[in-house]
Amino acid sequence: MGGVTMAVGSEGADICIVGAGVMGTSIAYQLAIRKAGRIVVCDQGSVGEGMSGRSSALIRMHYTFREEVQLAVLSLRMFRDWVEITGGQPVFHPAPFVRLVHPDETEKLRQNVAMQRECGAHVELIDRPTLAGMAPGWAVEEVILAAYEPDSGYGSGGQVAADLLARARELGVTYRAGARVLGLRRSGDQVTGVDTSRGPIAADLVICATGVWSKPLLRAAGWDPPIETEFHHVALVRRPGREPGDGLACIDSVTRTYFRPDVPGTTLVGSFYGPRGADPDNFPQRASEADLARLVEAASQRVPGLAEGGIAGSVTGVYDMTPDTRPLIGPVPGLPGCMAVMGFSGMGFKISPAVGVAVAEMVCQGVASTVDLRPFRPERFAEGRPIQPEGEYRDDLNTAR
Ligand SMILES: Cc1cc2nc3c(=O)[nH]c(=O)nc-3n(C[C@H](O)[C@H](O)[C@H](O)COP(=O)(O)OP(=O)(O)OC[C@H]3O[C@@H](n4cnc5c(N)ncnc54)[C@H](O)[C@@H]3O)c2cc1C
Repeated sequence: MGGVTMAVGSEGADICIVGAGVMGTSIAYQLAIRKAGRIVVCDQGSVGEGMSGRSSALIRMHYTFREEVQLAVLSLRMFRDWVEITGGQPVFHPAPFVRLVHPDETEKLRQNVAMQRECGAHVELIDRPTLAGMAPGWAVEEVILAAYEPDSGYGSGGQVAADLLARARELGVTYRAGARVLGLRRSGDQVTGVDTSRGPIAADLVICATGVWSKPLLRAAGWDPPIETEFHHVALVRRPGREPGDGLACIDSVTRTYFRPDVPGTTLVGSFYGPRGADPDNFPQRASEADLARLVEAASQRVPGLAEGGIAGSVTGVYDMTPDTRPLIGPVPGLPGCMAVMGFSGMGFKISPAVGVAVAEMVCQGVASTVDLRPFRPERFAEGRPIQPEGEYRDDLNTAR
């Protein structure tokens, strides 16, 4: 154990996981408990320092695609059982969740809630008077129905990655921080390991959980993942007085914002959209005052009290967007020995525990049995078969989180 002390250049593994964000660490942990062999996790930086550590970390189950709901339902359970699973501190902060859609999509909301309940989600439809009673400070005049998840909340991407890696290392996984993967090693088409800034690692299977950094790495190996980067900023707004609705989290199609409670007296506010083409190694570390003011103005159409709070801070980050805003999970086309787990399009945190379970099943048993991962196969776009759920909302292609 203790990969950081291993002699550089002498490393061999059955499985090398590139990336120590919530995805790479979750997969490492799940493979370790299945005794899948010698596992090395390497990261160019340190655990959770990628986009996981910048995540708004909303945990909710409202999706329009069944397999995503299934991943979210299982993950919520795991977040709530975190102490038991990882031995770490609790990571789950309760914040009942409300999904608001355009009034003309109320029927879709109803259908999606029915589907989510079939998947085991604890979700209810509530009408406007009920919502107004829960959140008297919100402007809800146009709402016909809302989806309400009493058991949802938020977490911390940095903590989740750190806890899962710590547990994986206790189970024998080797971790190499500061090891940037420069390229995939090949024998013909077969991937046989990686070359890192700290020496080569031979491996029978390389799992790329490399988030927004995936494209150059894979493209150099011959596969161009359909991923575009998208810049996002989040505002932390001071709340002068506490109102009953302040404990709720919400995604709101009408204002195209999302918000949730943060540290006491503060609300975190984010938006659906952002400019494409951000450089993950060189993006603004702070949002501009004008951008933050616009964001808070939009959210205050729903929660007027937000307009009275000052900005306490901001967070910026980059999403790895795919054309259908769903992840790429599975063997990389044309590169046997390499698996992609990337493209989470701004929604990966909340499903990361279950993605680890399902990917580990795929590796160990050849097929993911807990949740069917086949719809997420990386080649679906080349096949002309993107994910298009029936109940998709019209702004779904950019409502990540
Ligand atoms: C501002 C913001 C808000 C968000 N809000 C939410 C939310 O509310 N709910 C939600 O579910 N999701 C949210 N997300 C999305 C979620 O955070 C991500 O989908 C998730 O963290 C992705 O995890 P990951 O492990 O794939 O990527 P990362 O955490 O970015 O991990 C990838 C790792 O790979 C490493 N790496 C990359 N290339 C190499 C290489 N060549 N060699 C070695 N190491 C490499 C990086 O250093 C990094 O540590 C948000 C994201 C952002 C940016």
